[in-house]
Amino acid sequence: MIPVMQQIFEKIEQADSIMIFRHRRIDGDCVGASKGMKGLISLTWPEKKVYLIDDEKSEYLSFMGPDDDEVSDDVYSHSLGIVIDVGNHERISNPKYALCPFLIKIDHHIPKDTYGHINWVEEHRSSACEMIAAFYAAFQDKLIIDEKTAACIYTGMVTDSGRFQYEGVNGDTMRLAGLMLDKGVDTEKLYAHLYLRSFDQLKFKACIYENMQCTENGVAWIHVTKDMQQRFRLDFETASTAISSLSDIKGMLCWLAFIDTDTEEIRVRLRSRFAAINTVAEKYHGGGHAGASGATVWSMEEMQSLIRDADEHIRLYKETHEGWL
Ligand code: AMP
Repeated sequence: MIPVMQQIFEKIEQADSIMIFRHRRIDGDCVGASKGMKGLISLTWPEKKVYLIDDEKSEYLSFMGPDDDEVSDDVYSHSLGIVIDVGNHERISNPKYALCPFLIKIDHHIPKDTYGHINWVEEHRSSACEMIAAFYAAFQDKLIIDEKTAACIYTGMVTDSGRFQYEGVNGDTMRLAGLMLDKGVDTEKLYAHLYLRSFDQLKFKACIYENMQCTENGVAWIHVTKDMQQRFRLDFETASTAISSLSDIKGMLCWLAFIDTDTEEIRVRLRSRFAAINTVAEKYHGGGHAGASGATVWSMEEMQSLIRDADEHIRLYKETHEGWL
């Protein structure tokens, strides 16, 4: 066990009140990891107060249970803060994290910002949930877990690793996932929550395949316009799933989804195989991982510029590497 895990355990043990934070634009990993950590603490120390407060809601992820109601600022200023799955402090979804006098950062993104008083960052981990599972594994003689908590942790391990297929998945990932499954996770139900699609969503998928475009050097992209979102009655979260439909085109080492929002902002989701794409995301107000990043653009010109940059990036990669598919 690495010393920072022991420090985190001791900090949690000493705290009476704990607040857990995660990133904006919630996903399976940050929700699973925050609820997983909350579950471990609440089950082990029922006398401690543990809060998970976030304005952002996700219907898709609601099966993991609700968050807590807002509390007074005074509670924040007397609590230990644990921020999970957030690379840089600007992305912490609840800005009141800043009221906490002591912060612990637990994260697997490429480190940009050591905002924690204790920072446990392992960028090779396939998910933040894998880190929470590792935390449980390290202290399993002291920590209590139940099926619901294990299911939250397992959920993030599955979603952030693309069902255990992305870079970063190794033997340790599978052993920790196995440890979670041993706690009785109902995988049939879980996969139904994660992967069943409505009729409209499948029609939307067909529309993506109809409208997707590819650049000369191997970047596939789709613009999910407001019009498309209305036509298929998509909420923003469902519209954002467009990215996964572009993941398996031979020769396309990078794929992008541009999703219109209610404002001028256009959300960008970037994914890649073999080549790292985070540097392109960083140029457009974003960041993330080598193979999965996010960014924002504000106009069609900026969208085209990002596509050109990604195309050039992939051209260079192909020119200098062999063995990609
Ligand atoms: P997404 O496409 O939103 O699922 O993002 C992919 C990965 O990049 C996730 O791990 C996000 O936490 C991260 N990410 C997304 N947007 C940003 C951003 N603006 N800055 C830094 N990291 C981001």
